[in-house]
Amino acid sequence: MSNSKLVSYTGLSPNHSGKRVCQISRITPHAVVGQLSVERICDCFKDKGRQASCNYAIGADGRIGLCVDEANRSWCSSSRDNDQRAITIECASDLTEPYAMKPEVYSALVNLCADICRRNGKQKLIWIADREKALEYSVKSDEMLLTVHRWFARKSCPGNWLFERMGSLAHEVNSRL
Ligand SMILES: [Zn+2]
Repeated sequence: MSNSKLVSYTGLSPNHSGKRVCQISRITPHAVVGQLSVERICDCFKDKGRQASCNYAIGADGRIGLCVDEANRSWCSSSRDNDQRAITIECASDLTEPYAMKPEVYSALVNLCADICRRNGKQKLIWIADREKALEYSVKSDEMLLTVHRWFARKSCPGNWLFERMGSLAHEVNSRL
């Protein structure tokens, strides 16, 4: 298992559970709440007291950082079940709803998702907007499922801006696979 070569900054976090016990079958994009640099996002997860992390971070200028190795389970989505399966990505966003993201961030997210799918042998990224249907969906070995933090906790993450674009995200990634 490898990490993305799209990474331009590595700031590893001690906040993870070690090796995953499930196969990678999901990608979960999050909103950071703040137009932060990739260094700021990764560095805030170096604090053990935060008890939080992500696999990748995308800063406001679209640069990508590695925070927790893909092979390891990050602490990101308020769900053991999800984080064991998901590659989690924190994306710089506005401070308030709809937590809009810069075009550079969205474009980096498309590139990163395509790269993650390719390296993990996935030919299709799937978005099912209905929570129950998505979580009941049986993901095939060459498929990757998009999930969102709001399904696992009482919060807006990844914000309405990205939530409304999840179908487009899947479509744009699939056009590259
Ligand atoms: Zn989140």
